[in-house]
Amino acid sequence: MQYVSTRGGMKPSNFSDVLLEGLAPDGGLVVPQTIPTVDVETLESWRELSYAELATEVIGLYWTDIPREDLAKLCQAAYGSQFKAEMVVPLTPIDQMSALVDLSQGPTLAFKDMAMQFLGEALPYVLQQRGQTLNILGATSGDTGSAAEYAFRSKPNIGVFMLSPKGRMSRFQRAQMYTLTDDNVHNVVIEGVFDDAQNLVKELNGDLEFKAANSLGTVNSINLGRLIAQCVYYFWAWLRVTNGIPADQREGFGVSFAVPSGNFGNIFSGQLARQMGLPIDTLVLATNENNVLDEFFRSGKYEPRSADNTLATSSPSMDISKASNLERFVYLVMDQNQEQLAKAWEQLDATGTLDLSEQQPRFDQEFGMVSGTSTHEDRVATIRAVYEKAEVVIDPHTADGVTVARGYQRPGHPMLVLETAKPEKFGDIVNEALGFEPELLPEFAQLLELEQHTVEMGADAEALRDYIAQHHV
Ligand SMILES: *Cc1c(COP(=O)(O)O)cnc(C)c1O
Repeated sequence: MQYVSTRGGMKPSNFSDVLLEGLAPDGGLVVPQTIPTVDVETLESWRELSYAELATEVIGLYWTDIPREDLAKLCQAAYGSQFKAEMVVPLTPIDQMSALVDLSQGPTLAFKDMAMQFLGEALPYVLQQRGQTLNILGATSGDTGSAAEYAFRSKPNIGVFMLSPKGRMSRFQRAQMYTLTDDNVHNVVIEGVFDDAQNLVKELNGDLEFKAANSLGTVNSINLGRLIAQCVYYFWAWLRVTNGIPADQREGFGVSFAVPSGNFGNIFSGQLARQMGLPIDTLVLATNENNVLDEFFRSGKYEPRSADNTLATSSPSMDISKASNLERFVYLVMDQNQEQLAKAWEQLDATGTLDLSEQQPRFDQEFGMVSGTSTHEDRVATIRAVYEKAEVVIDPHTADGVTVARGYQRPGHPMLVLETAKPEKFGDIVNEALGFEPELLPEFAQLLELEQHTVEMGADAEALRDYIAQHHV
């Protein structure tokens, strides 16, 4: 299996090569040259597999340049006891025809762990084979930074430099990241807001000499390895749901998924699973008030906003102004025509708008994708309604998913909502909705008491360069 750029400017490469890349060299995104398909018999033969075994099968269709036994070991290590539920991804019914797909059983209580734990095994494997090191430089306002730190802590040949804005994260998020004591994890606290931290990352990444000298890299949301690892739970959830129906009705049984969305990574993995042949009926994209993607799916017009036009909402991990993975979907809509895609993105860069309104009917008809927006009031009402009906406390991102899913539910058709975080991380809105804060598990309550280790600096690229030069692996 070979990988190319959406814009055509990359020679076909294998999975181990692109695992370490963010952008393709031409500025496009890395995509498989052809999407592998899974036939009905193969899908059925996966029914009894454990999560790690299923991950080996699904990821093995993409990562074809390493021995299968090695991949199986990596998946066993990635999806082991660091997940609190033995089955890794449990399903929790919330009413007769809908259930939550619990992607938040990992060490940081959010769905980013699903892919990051895999990279935490896959990257050291590739680096060791090649005798290379990697220093991951990132900026975070919450979930991504902690998921990366927990995935790469104490991993050989890897350093993590995670910038976070001073005083902008919740007490829980700070405790989660800053109490780590692993030598290869560096929490750099920046005087400023998230964009200041993000700009420092961009500046150092743009300094190619410094980047090469310090083996800098990223594991951001456009990393193809993350998207492929995320395909697995769509297969997993479909197999669990269809366990509950008679065997002769399973073939082609359509299941819908609602996905709380930001950078379009999670839901693109669902689209990939659908393209692979998984019987997905509808993929329901849920946004919060930052609804640039809902606008796109309704009108066919994509108009990214500026960072200052991004609202700070109570589902903060979905607060985006542009969706970095959308290009991969547009590539599919353009029937994988790289020339046409490259032109479209030139136009988008020049005018700020991509107009696909003529194609818009295909989004639903051909790709099964629809969308909706949820607000703070919706989240509060939905957290309350789900608790009253099912005695399950959900987090605000999942609440966006449930809210939008309700508008697309059809009698007799199962609707699965991806649970992208646990409510413990977002106590304030849960308190507003239910009058109590979700109780922390003892191991997390303890974290709040531990000593924190950070390096503080101004938004100063020189100071950051010095620090990385002294501490990289
Ligand atoms: C990252 C994140 C999202 C958005 O996922 P995308 O892949 O960026 O669309 C939704 N919810 C939570 C809790 C997240 O951390």
